Amino acid sequence: MTNKPIIIAIDGPAAAGKGTLARRLAEHFDLAYLDTGLLYRAVGMNVVRQGGDPEDTEGAENAAKALKTVDLEAADLREDAAADAASRVSAIPGVRAQLLEFQRKFAENPPDGKKGAVLDGRDIGTVVCPNAKAKLFVTASVEIRAKRRFKELRDKGLAAIHGRVLADMKERDARDSDRTVSPLEPAKDAYQLDTSDLDADQAFAAALGFINSANN
Ligand code: C5P
Repeated sequence: MTNKPIIIAIDGPAAAGKGTLARRLAEHFDLAYLDTGLLYRAVGMNVVRQGGDPEDTEGAENAAKALKTVDLEAADLREDAAADAASRVSAIPGVRAQLLEFQRKFAENPPDGKKGAVLDGRDIGTVVCPNAKAKLFVTASVEIRAKRRFKELRDKGLAAIHGRVLADMKERDARDSDRTVSPLEPAKDAYQLDTSDLDADQAFAAALGFINSANN
């Protein structure tokens, strides 16, 4: 008999701090880590690179079917154009169905002999891994998230206008929350962690406290 992998599901909107938190938790518990946003970003950019429209169902579904692990290493996936394309392809049910399989395989058979995995995204606790051992829903006010994103862009030496970053963030939030298939919403049994007034260490400590209590 094999032991079931330990899964930690982390969901929430953009720039709430889930990526940093997920990486730290994976390291702490020695689990594999999957940033599921990268899958949607890679599908979106594969469509855009071929001159397609990320809202075109057939093109996006084909790109999702053809997705390879190596596509997740493309250099431009962190850019805002990729985030935008991702949030468009992610509303297409056929795309979500394809990527669901990839994510579940990763969770069921974590790479490198790890005993489990941390997955972060929008629907991990609700759809991808509803039986996860611990579920966290990480949020922060949209103003704080836009401020963090703005600082990140400026620190990278990229030109950014605060008002534009805030407007883009609100638009992406609305698309992720309002879509009919797997909208962004907390699982009923998720621990809600608002990081508006927390730094990365405080968010990590709060998450750890919850996970340890959930496992006892
Ligand atoms: O998390 P990240 O900002 O990289 O995600 C990019 C976009 O991919 C999100 O705005 C969302 O539309 C989509 N996504 C999703 N489901 C996930 C992860 C990401 O729909 N599990």
